[in-house]
Amino acid sequence: MFKAIIFCITLTFFIPLDGLAANNTVATIAPYDDNNIFAKILRKEAPATIVFENEYVLAFEDIHPMKPVHILVIPKGKYRSMLDFSEKASDIEITAIIRALGSIASKMNIDQDGFSIMSNSGHNGGQTVPHLHFHLLGGEKVAWEESLRKQKKG
Ligand code: AMP
Repeated sequence: MFKAIIFCITLTFFIPLDGLAANNTVATIAPYDDNNIFAKILRKEAPATIVFENEYVLAFEDIHPMKPVHILVIPKGKYRSMLDFSEKASDIEITAIIRALGSIASKMNIDQDGFSIMSNSGHNGGQTVPHLHFHLLGGEKVAWEESLRKQKKG
């Protein structure tokens, strides 16, 4: 009985918290926050499994992978969102991200079977970390469109 009560309390405590975290989105337009987790990873103050790095780009494994391969690819510059990046990044920085995405896909062996690249901006985009990032997903079928269409029907 006692164990059952503890179990229920734990569940009610964790479920809403988890749900909250998933919906904890960030604004597209705001000053850059130097304390965001990706800024800390860039400064090597927070751990990450890095798979690629050059002068302009860092890529590391997502801590909660949605697919067998789930890499986050980020510019080293302080860009909050895609809006910020498209307005302010230099041509070299923009080119570097695109080239890195291709190189990393090959490096992670998802080039043959295919992959998906996704980037969320702001609340409606579902962005939760205020440093521009691209999700590189592969290792099995991704099918964003399919699941979004199913959600719309349901
Ligand atoms: P988004 O919701 O598009 O902003 O994506 C943020 C992503 O960052 C999520 O997929 C998280 O799982 C991932 N994430 C958050 N913190 C870390 C971390 N410390 N290391 C690696 N990935 C993280």
